[in-house]
Amino acid sequence: MPFNERADEKDKIINLLHSPDFVVFESQFGAQTLMLLGGVLILLLLLFLLFAFIVVGVVFLSIKHGKFYFPKLIRTGFSYMEGVIKRICAIFGLQEDELTIFFIQLHNRMSEGDFAKIDMKDRAIFLPHCLRSSKCPATLTLEGLFCQHCGNCDLDNSIKELEEMGYRVFIVPGSTFIGRMVKKYMPRAIIGVGCLREIKDGLEFADNLGVVVMGVINRTDGCVETLANWPELMKVASLKAPKI
Ligand code: SF4
Repeated sequence: MPFNERADEKDKIINLLHSPDFVVFESQFGAQTLMLLGGVLILLLLLFLLFAFIVVGVVFLSIKHGKFYFPKLIRTGFSYMEGVIKRICAIFGLQEDELTIFFIQLHNRMSEGDFAKIDMKDRAIFLPHCLRSSKCPATLTLEGLFCQHCGNCDLDNSIKELEEMGYRVFIVPGSTFIGRMVKKYMPRAIIGVGCLREIKDGLEFADNLGVVVMGVINRTDGCVETLANWPELMKVASLKAPKI
C-alpha cells in the first residue's frame, strides 16, 4: 500500500476511536461486562448461601432424628463454609458447642469403619494431662508424662488396660507433643481424648496427616482433675472389624 493511503487508513482509525459513537459503544460494552460480572457474583453468592442452608437443614434433621443424613455433604459443608454454617445454626438456636459435638460424632461415625480395621498395635491414644490427680507424681519425659500408677486417678487402671489391649498410650504434656509422637511412631490410627476444642483441632490435625482418628470428649472441662468419658473411650478403643 502506498504511503499516503496507509496514512489515510491510520487517520480513519484515529478518527473512529475519537468519534462519539465509539465512546458510547465502549461505555456500553464496559457497563454490560460489569453487569454480567455482578450478576455472576450474585448468582454464586446465592448458590453458596443455598448450599449452606441445605447443610444446616440436614444438620437439624440429623440431630432431630438421631441419625446422620448425607454425612459427606455435611462434612464438605463444614470444610468449606464452617463460619457461615455456625452463624446460620446460631440464628436457629443451635449453639457452637452443640454443633461441634455433632461434628465430632459425625466424624467418628464416618471414621469408625476404617478405624476398626486397624490392628490395635498400630493405634495410639493421647490422653490430656488434666485427667491426673492434682497430687500426681508422674514424671515428665520425652514420651510425655510417665504415670507412676500411684492409684490417685482413673488413668492408673485405664492405661494398664489400654496397654494390655496393644495400644501405645501417651499422657500429653503440651500442644506440639502429639505431632512429634505421630511422626516418631507413625500410628495408623489414633484416639484423641480431651475437651471439645482440643478434639476438634485434633481431628483436623490428624485428617491433614492422613491418620484415621476418633475423638472422645471429656465429661468435664477445665485444666485440673477433669473427667474422661471412660466407658465411651473403652467402647471406641475396643472397636474391631468383624471376622469374616
Ligand atoms: S495414677 Fe498415674 S497419672 Fe494418675 S495421679 Fe497417679 S501417677 Fe499421676
